[in-house]
Amino acid sequence: MVTHSRRTITPLELPAGGDVSLSIHEYEGSEGPTVYVQAAQHGREVNGTEVLRRLHDELVEADIAGRVIAVPVADPLTFDHASYTASRGIDETNPNMNRVWPGDSEGSAHGRIAAALWEHASAADAVVDLHTMSPDALSHVVVTEGDRESIALAEAFGTDLTLVEPLPGDSEGDEDTDEEWHRRNFSGKLRVTAARRGIPCITPELGSHTRVQESAVETGLVGLRNALRHLGVLPGDPVGNGRTERARNHLGRVRADESGLFVPGEVAVGDRVTEGDRLGTLYGPTDYGVRQEVRADREGVLYALTREATVVAGDTLANVALPLE
Ligand SMILES: [Zn+2]
Repeated sequence: MVTHSRRTITPLELPAGGDVSLSIHEYEGSEGPTVYVQAAQHGREVNGTEVLRRLHDELVEADIAGRVIAVPVADPLTFDHASYTASRGIDETNPNMNRVWPGDSEGSAHGRIAAALWEHASAADAVVDLHTMSPDALSHVVVTEGDRESIALAEAFGTDLTLVEPLPGDSEGDEDTDEEWHRRNFSGKLRVTAARRGIPCITPELGSHTRVQESAVETGLVGLRNALRHLGVLPGDPVGNGRTERARNHLGRVRADESGLFVPGEVAVGDRVTEGDRLGTLYGPTDYGVRQEVRADREGVLYALTREATVVAGDTLANVALPLE
């Protein structure tokens, strides 16, 4: 039988005196590994929270080996505003919670929340950090290159694409990638922090933030069940869950050279493209002129293509990952 408990911790108080509380669910069965799962450290990414609600109904009835620790809302500061980052008024130094791991109990707001959660994540045998990307991306799981246990966990989880990302300084990473890595503070991601401590960790990116999308929730729920089966917490073997192609992310992206209105071409996410393939056209909305024929920057799997038409120079329009066999 499973014992379920829910407790609340309060790592932070807001200026007017309101508590920032985190709910931690714990499911304990017979002997086995401990798995830490969290959702919504980017508050608008609500599909993971819905996945954990549905998983709860299954876990309380299941025969589990080990423990599952689940945090449905990892960042209340952004969840309450359905936002990606917190306002600078709340956390000026670290508006993005996924740049502060392992956190700092005496640091900024996000540092304190992450530190409280890291106590649980760091004691686990595996970590799943549920996210959602834009509705314009293929569902995928991000994992650290060369991290065999995490890659096996990612492939058990499923989704359409397993996206391996090199750590900076790796032989195959190029200098631009390393520079971007440091500039964007990627070493503070939960996945990277866990990987460096030897804890297998995956970041599923389900479809569509802000709204609960059935297909994304289903992919997440099947994926989590698969991950728990792979780890031996749930009985049985993982089942099919998407295309599970493997590709390498270079952090490269196709950007808008100028501002304007973007009209996507006859391509869809998941397509194989070759360098130079036309992905769409950027127009001047008032002069009707073509400002940019937007083309694939490399051969690979098109895994994101924006459908947000109004773009500013420098915006990301598409992402292409290098397929791996
Ligand atoms: Zn996210």
